[in-house]
This record gives sequence, C-alpha cells and structure tokens, in this order.
Amino acid sequence: MKTTSIVSKQTKLVNNEQIMIREARGRRLALLGKVFMIQNSKTNMNGYYVESEFASNRYYYVQYKENDDSWCSCPDFSSNKVENCKHLYAVQYALHLGLVQQIGHKLPISQKT
Ligand SMILES: [Zn+2]
Repeated sequence: MKTTSIVSKQTKLVNNEQIMIREARGRRLALLGKVFMIQNSKTNMNGYYVESEFASNRYYYVQYKENDDSWCSCPDFSSNKVENCKHLYAVQYALHLGLVQQIGHKLPISQKT
C-alpha cells in the first residue's frame, strides 16, 4: 500500500468540499431564478447577471461560454483563483435547467459589475 501524506489528503478533501458547497449554492441560485441573461448582439457572446446570495440588490457579471474561458466579477473568482465560483455554477445550472431569466426592468443594462 502506498503511503500518501495525510496533509495533502486532507487538503484534497477540503477542496472537494469547497467545490461541492459552491456547486450547491450555484444550483440554489439557479433554482431561485437569480440568473439573468444579457444579450450582446455585437460580440455574440452571452453575458449574465447573477444576483448575490446575500444582498438582493447586488449582481455579479458572468461571462460564460461552454468549453471556453469563463469569467465572473465576484471576489471569490478573482482573489481565490477558483476554477468555478458559485455564480458560474449558477449559470451552468440555469442553462441546463432552462431557468435563465430575461433581464428585467430593474437591472440597468449598462451596469458592468
Ligand atoms: Zn462569481
């Protein structure tokens, strides 16, 4: 039997748990209808707003394209260098489950973050 370091094993477990938490939160955001699509006809790239889990008037901007570079404006994505933050999961789930909302009048189209 191979000896593996307990530390790295635990780190891996923690990472897996973190991913699972992000995924579950993203799924919840999608199910609550907090993913909004912004159409950009110029670039043909779809952007999304995902409403913050904790502040109902805060939105994060997500650029998502399947099998392509995705990006989110939240601090988790930029500071922790995570592969997928909960907002990216939210967009993926919303697309998968057909729960992407059309952008409502309460969101200014020009808002960047
Ligand atoms: Zn995010």
